[in-house]
Amino acid sequence: MGELSRQLLYKARWHGVDVRVADRYFPSSKTCSGCGVVRNDLNLATRTYSCGTCGLVLDRDLNAAINLARWQPKEPSAVTLVVPTRASLLSTA
Ligand SMILES: [Zn+2]
Repeated sequence: MGELSRQLLYKARWHGVDVRVADRYFPSSKTCSGCGVVRNDLNLATRTYSCGTCGLVLDRDLNAAINLARWQPKEPSAVTLVVPTRASLLSTA
């Protein structure tokens, strides 16, 4: 684990936030958050995502953030780091 990852996990734990690490090849920017179609022609200079299938138009980073928020790992233990929330750490269950 690199220093950046360690710091991120530390701060996330401190603030009770879960951290998920998506697969590095998950096309978060190229996938339409409206209909799921993938645009392989999207380059880095294009800052607005426009879907030719469903008509969705929104900021590229917002589109990627929505996709990452919805992302679920195929094998949870293999690619997901879940940081316990403060509430779960204080739980007596
Ligand atoms: Zn779409």
